[in-house]
Amino acid sequence: MFKDRPAGWMHALIFWGFLVLLFRAFEFFLIGFWPIFEGPYSVNFMAIDIEGGLVLDVIGIIYVIYYYLKDAFIFLVILACLYALYRRLVIKPKRLNLSGEGIIILLLIFTIMVSDIVFEGAKLSFSNLGQGLTTPLHRILWEIGFYHPDIMSGLWSPLGTVFALILPASDYSTRPSLEQAAYWTHVISILIFSVILPRSKHFHIITSIPNVFLGNVTQMGNQLSRIDFEDETKETFGVTRVEEFSWKKLLDLHTCTECGRCDVFCPALNSDKPLSPKQFTIDLRDHLNFQTPALLSNKEPNEPPVIMNNAIQDATVWACTTCGACEEECPVMIEYVNKMVDLRRGLVLTEDRYPKELGDAFKSLETHSNPWGFPGTQREDWAKELNIKQWDKNNPTEYLYFVGCNGSFDNRGKKVSESVVRALQKAGVDFSILGNREGCTGDPARRLGNEYLFDMLASKNAETFKEQGVIKVIVHCPHCFNSFKHEYPEFGVKLEVIHHSELLANLIKENKLATENKTDETVVVHDSCYMGRHNKVYEAPRDILKSTASPESVKEVETSRERGTCCGAGGGRFLLEESGTRISHNRVDELMQAKPDTIAVSCPFCVLMLEDALKAKNLGDTVKVKDISEII
Ligand code: SF4
Ligand code: SF4
Repeated sequence: MFKDRPAGWMHALIFWGFLVLLFRAFEFFLIGFWPIFEGPYSVNFMAIDIEGGLVLDVIGIIYVIYYYLKDAFIFLVILACLYALYRRLVIKPKRLNLSGEGIIILLLIFTIMVSDIVFEGAKLSFSNLGQGLTTPLHRILWEIGFYHPDIMSGLWSPLGTVFALILPASDYSTRPSLEQAAYWTHVISILIFSVILPRSKHFHIITSIPNVFLGNVTQMGNQLSRIDFEDETKETFGVTRVEEFSWKKLLDLHTCTECGRCDVFCPALNSDKPLSPKQFTIDLRDHLNFQTPALLSNKEPNEPPVIMNNAIQDATVWACTTCGACEEECPVMIEYVNKMVDLRRGLVLTEDRYPKELGDAFKSLETHSNPWGFPGTQREDWAKELNIKQWDKNNPTEYLYFVGCNGSFDNRGKKVSESVVRALQKAGVDFSILGNREGCTGDPARRLGNEYLFDMLASKNAETFKEQGVIKVIVHCPHCFNSFKHEYPEFGVKLEVIHHSELLANLIKENKLATENKTDETVVVHDSCYMGRHNKVYEAPRDILKSTASPESVKEVETSRERGTCCGAGGGRFLLEESGTRISHNRVDELMQAKPDTIAVSCPFCVLMLEDALKAKNLGDTVKVKDISEII
C-alpha cells in the first residue's frame, strides 16, 4: 500500500475510517428505530454517589472514547476524500481509469461523513440549551469559567460542537429539521453505497479483507501446483473455463481495485506487448460475472464458455515473463503468475495450442533434456579441461554442482560455468558434477504450461538425486534454484540448494576466497526476478561487489531490488519470438542511467538477454555484462 505514499495513506485512512465508523452506522439505524437512543448523551459517565464519592461508568467512558475516535476519523476521512477527488480530477494519474463511478463513491463517502457532523451539531445546538449543570464534570468546568451549553455537550462530539457554534444563533427552531435532514441524508447515502458496492469495483472494500487474510504469505518462490495425471476423472488439464480456477483465484478477481499499480511495473506492458495485468484481471472478472448466473443455477454455461480467445487473447498469456513485478506491487495481494500458467496449461495440455516455435523446444526437452536439441551426450563437454570430479555415490563430495542447460550448452553460458568452477576450486570447495547424467530441471516447460513434460523431467532428475544420495546442490541459474528449492519436494527430494552468489559471498566472508584487486570501474547491479522477487536474495551479489569494487563505484538504479525490471527471459520467454520493443532493450536503457562500465548479474539468462540488447544498441564494446562469478 505505502509504496505509493500519498495514495497509500489516503486509502489506509478511508479503510481504517470505515472500520471505526461501521459501529457508528449501526448506531444510526438504532436511532432510526428508537429515537430515544442517544449514544453518550444518555450516559452519565461520572456521577456522585449517595455518600459523595465519585463513580465512574466504564461503558460510558468507552462510549465517549469511541465518540472521540469517530470524530477523529471523520475528519481524516474527509481529508482523504478531498485528496482523492483532487487526485482523480486534477492530477489524473495515468494508471487509474477515471470513471464516474469512482467520483460517485467518493462523493457518497464525503456525504456520509459531513452529514454525521451536521446531525450531531444540529442536535447539540437545540437539545442541550438550558439543560443545566448535569454532571460533576459540567460543574467543574462551570467553576473554572468554561461553561457553555453547546461546548459542554461537545465534550462528546468535538466536530458537532464546532458545527453548532458556527450555526446562526438566531433561529433555533429550524435545528430539529436540520437534524432530520442530516439523519436521512446519512442513512440514505449508506444504503445507496451498500447497493452500489457489490456491483462495482468497490466490492474490494469487502473482499480485500479476506483476500489479504487468506493470501499466501509463507510461500517463497514462484511455486506452482502439480497436476495429478493419474486422476481418471479429469477430462481437461489446466484452466479453460473460469470455474476451473480455485476459489481463491476467483476471490482475487473480485478484489481488484483497478488501481493499476501492477501495470506501472509490468515489463510486458511497458514494451508494448498485448498484456496489461490490470486489464487481464478485469476481463477475467467480467467473464466470471457473465458466467455466474449459469454457474449458480447449474445450467449450461453462457456462450462463449471458454476463456481463451474470448475473454483473454492467447498473445496476452504468452507475453508474461512470470517476473512477479505485478504481484510485488499489488496492494491486495492478487496473484498473477499462477493464473497465467493455469491458462497456458489449458492451452498446451487441453487445447493443444501454443506458439509454433515452442513445438521444437518441447520436442528437444523431451528427447534431449535441453530446449535447444543438443545431444545429451555432449552435456559434460564444457568441463573436460577443468579437472572437475564426476559425482560418485560411493564417494560423494560435499556439494553437487548442477550446471543447468544454459551453463552446459550455450557458449556464453559455458564461460559463466567455468568462472563458477574456478572460484569454487580456488576456495577449496569439495564439489563434483553429474555430467551427462544431468537433465533439464523442467522449469521452462512448466512455466510454458507443459506440465506433463515438466513432470517427466523433474521425476527423472529426482530419481537421479535419490539414487545418487545428493543432498547439497550448488546452482548458478536462479530458475534451477527456484525449481529445486520449491518444486522438487513434491517429487520426493528435499535438497539443500544454494545459489552460487550466496555461496561465494559466504566464502569471501569466511576469508576462504580472496578477491585481491578492487576495480574502480562503475558497476551497476541487475537483480534477476527468480533470485530477487521470487526468493528475496538481494544481498549476496551486493556483498560480493563490496569486496570486488570500491563502494562508490557500485551503483543502483531506481528500478532495482523488489522493483527490478525483468530482462525478458523468464517464464520460458527466452524460447519465444518477441514482438515490438524488446524487454531487454528497455532494461538496458534503465541500467544505462547509472553510466556503468559493467552490469553485474547473477543469472546466465540475464547475461544473454542484456548482452544482446547492448549489442543491438551499439554499446557492446563499451559496457560489459558479467556474472558475479566472472567479476570475482
Ligand atoms: S508477471 Fe511480470 S510480465 Fe507477467 S503480468 Fe506480472 S508484471 Fe507483467
Ligand atoms: S491487480 Fe492489484 S495492482 Fe493490479 S489493478 Fe488490481 S488491485 Fe491494483
